[in-house]
Amino acid sequence: MSGIDALPPLREVISTHGLSARKSLGQNFLLDLNLTAKIARQAGSLTDHDVLEIGPGPGGLTRGLLAEGARHVLAVEKDARCLPALAEIAAAYPGRLTVIEGDALEIDPLAYLTPPIRVAANLPYNIGTELLVRWLTPPDWPPFWESLTLMFQREVAQRIVAAPGSKAYGRLALLAQWRAHARIVMDLPPGAFTPPPKVSSAVVHLTALPEPRFPADAAVLSRVVATAFNQRRKMLRSALKGLTPDIEDRLHAAGIPPTERAEQVSLEGFCALSREIAKP
Ligand code: SAM
Repeated sequence: MSGIDALPPLREVISTHGLSARKSLGQNFLLDLNLTAKIARQAGSLTDHDVLEIGPGPGGLTRGLLAEGARHVLAVEKDARCLPALAEIAAAYPGRLTVIEGDALEIDPLAYLTPPIRVAANLPYNIGTELLVRWLTPPDWPPFWESLTLMFQREVAQRIVAAPGSKAYGRLALLAQWRAHARIVMDLPPGAFTPPPKVSSAVVHLTALPEPRFPADAAVLSRVVATAFNQRRKMLRSALKGLTPDIEDRLHAAGIPPTERAEQVSLEGFCALSREIAKP
């Protein structure tokens, strides 16, 4: 018994199934089920939602999500060694857990999920940013997910919620904040994980906005922001001159002094500039 359910404690699960952590798979496990239940609660109401979990590992967060009442959890795990442990959880919660063995970067989970959908994961650090960018840049908006509750290295979490003028402000902040509300909801020291990683972590909760905060074409905004931050120390009139020869006029039209640098420009400013650049 583990406190939140009738399954064995995670240390026992790990030793029974020989789940020694593999660095190549970003395996830093959460073994405290009270902590995983707390993370699950940050996701919002679960009883009427399907939850997509990437990288369940031995199932700490999976059990937290199920104990907190998730209607259905779809868990995608690359490490086949974890499947027997996950099968035990599925048996304890009949019909509420589906596990897919595979690479989250290759699998399209949508066929297995019924809206409304939340995503919750203690992500493998090597693919966390890539998955987040994919979730934030679907072909159509609103996306398939209503919220994302994700563990990142603290430094990445800070880049997601960063404000203009800060060192962490950049492409990730603009991408996340244009069409979502993003905030850090928990901080975790290395010792919360087994084995402990070198850096601290944080849980970021993002909720999808029904509409972007400011109008802009997604592809143009993405190009403008990527180009601007590619040379973040340069003035925008020179960092962006490859986009259009009359960049100074367009910066003026967007209300941005051409001598500003990317990190000083607000989301609203980048959207205004994208609209100007999209004009013929
Ligand atoms: N959720 C568990 C927990 O909180 O203890 C494990 C988290 S661990 C940081 C990341 C998990 O993602 C590992 O179980 C790892 O095997 C899995 N993983 C790594 N790369 C993956 C990929 N490309 N697709 C799916 N799962 C992956």
